[in-house]
Amino acid sequence: TPVDLEKFCRTLAEKMQAKTDKHSIVFNSEGLNFQGIFDENILRQLLKNLLSNAIKYSPDGGEIQLNLICENNQAIFRIKDRGIGIPKKDLSRVFTNFYRGTNIGTISGTGLGLSLVKKIVDLHQGEISIESEENVGTEIRVTLPLESSVLNKVFNCS
Ligand code: ATP
Ligand code: MG
Repeated sequence: TPVDLEKFCRTLAEKMQAKTDKHSIVFNSEGLNFQGIFDENILRQLLKNLLSNAIKYSPDGGEIQLNLICENNQAIFRIKDRGIGIPKKDLSRVFTNFYRGTNIGTISGTGLGLSLVKKIVDLHQGEISIESEENVGTEIRVTLPLESSVLNKVFNCS
């Protein structure tokens, strides 16, 4: 179904803000047309996992940015935090089922969130990349086509 990504992301950012008073979740968007064909529940799963990681792995709080850019028939989502970061040696493994970083201390989780995120990105024939520095923060960038023929076939959501 057609989704207004600008509105969708803004609403989600507000919902996630309600879960924390330590962080300020800042939403920004750039583009002329934010309309895309998506399954809202799947898109929500994707962004919620990334935003809840950003919250969980910045235990001291700070700003979390959700950035949306729509151009060239693509949506680019950037989720940026000022948290504990991901050690270089963990980076290649974070999409593995049940993998958890080596610097997480007592922060709890199952290690499945990013595996699901990766599956959703692949389903859209999208891309995901991570830039992170320990004790500085993490930025995750997801690129999805605004219309994906594969998704239309799988979910019949055109
Ligand atoms: P859950 O299944 O509850 O999401 P999880 O958060 O441990 O558990 P993933 O979301 O798959 O699992 O993340 C895998 C690992 O990647 C985490 O254990 C953590 O080490 C690292 N990680 C993910 N996001 C961040 C982030 N924003 N900042 C720092 N580390 C992160
Ligand atoms: Mg997680």
